[in-house]
Order: sequence, then structure tokens, then C-alpha cells
Amino acid sequence: MTDNTFETLGLNAGLMSALKAAGYDKPTPIQAKSIPHVMKGADLLGIAQTGTGKTAAFALPILHRLAENRVAPKPRTTRCLVLSPTRELATQIADSFKQYGQHLGFRVAVVFGGVKYGGQERAMQQGLDILVAAPGRLLDHIQQKTLDLSSTEIFVLDEADQMLDLGFIKPIRQVVSRLPARRQNLFFSATMPNEIGKLAGEL
Ligand code: AMP
Repeated sequence: MTDNTFETLGLNAGLMSALKAAGYDKPTPIQAKSIPHVMKGADLLGIAQTGTGKTAAFALPILHRLAENRVAPKPRTTRCLVLSPTRELATQIADSFKQYGQHLGFRVAVVFGGVKYGGQERAMQQGLDILVAAPGRLLDHIQQKTLDLSSTEIFVLDEADQMLDLGFIKPIRQVVSRLPARRQNLFFSATMPNEIGKLAGEL
């Protein structure tokens, strides 16, 4: 790409001003590749390490798409679901969505285990644009019917290899079985062991 700028990617004006405030001059290589692809609504399988700008590579085009087709999320649903292996990563990802989406007025929440359910339930009750979740606690909410994934439009699986190492493959399959068949899938992993390749193929 000769003209590698955020301007040429055609991102929403609110996103552009958040990027300017964050001091981002130009897209990283993974962003330049993934943003146009994800903006079109296509699926993506990305081999990417942390530190490459991977979070913005999916968060920016997702925010752009949600803003292009703005609808009020129904109670106890989310338009976009991001699965993340740990509470720290989930919190970082949610913070990135909030930072980049600061001018868009979206509802963003994060859920993970080890804390009380009440605050998470209240956040989901009103309906969310973006939910970032660790798999175990997410399944609890689905079973308690405090969350319904049947209208989720975009599904992101981040750090898939770490999910595998932590024994989350079964919970992930259970979560995926609750998603509608028609959705956009984004899948990120630092490495691509056989089992991850197989899961990606199924998705
Ligand atoms: P990540 O790989 O998503 O963990 O991002 C690594 C770091 O790079 C984070 O601190 C981001 O804020 C920063 N970052 C992401 N994209 C850019 C960019 N295009 N220009 C400058 N910094 C960036």
C-alpha cells in the first residue's frame, strides 16, 4: 500500500478524532490489512501477537460498522461479542473500545469471574453494543438468562491459542452454539496449532 493513512481507510469521523487525540499517526501493518476487510463485513483469521496494534485492528472497523448501521440494542443482548481469555485482557480490550468509540455513544461492558453478578447483570439488562467477556462467566450469564446471544452480529475470538491452553475450548463451543448462524467472525491467535485451525474452520 503506497498511501498508508487512516484517512484513506474511510473511517467514521468520530473515530478519526479519537485516533487523533490518541496520537496515532498511521495504521500499523495489521491495521492497514484488516481494517478495510472487516469494514466490509468479511470474516477474518489473523495471526497476530500483542503489541502489533491488534486490538485497534478489530475494534476500529467494528465500531465503524456499528455506527454505520445504528440500532438500539435490545435488553439483555449485545451487537458485538468479544471473547478474551483473562480478566486483564478483557478489561484492556473494553477500555480500547471505549477510547476509540468515545464520540460514538455506544454502550460497552466487560464481564469476568471472581466478582459479583449484580453490576454485570445491570449493564446487560439495558442492552449493549459491545460486550467483552471471559468465557466461564459469560456462560453463567447465558444459563441465568441474563444474556441472550441470538441477535449478535459480530463475534471476536481473541488470543485463541491462550484460550486453548487455559482449557476454554469447550466453553467457547458452547458460546458459539448460542450465536446466530448469520454473523461476522473475527479470530485472532499468536500461533496456529492444529486444534485452533480446526476451530477456526468450524467457525
Ligand atoms: P495491541 O497490540 O492491541 O496490544 O496494541 C499495542 C499498543 O499500540 C497499544 O498501546 C496501542 O494503544 C498502540 N497502538 C495501536 N495502534 C497504533 C497506531 N496505529 N499508532 C500508534 N500506536 C498504536
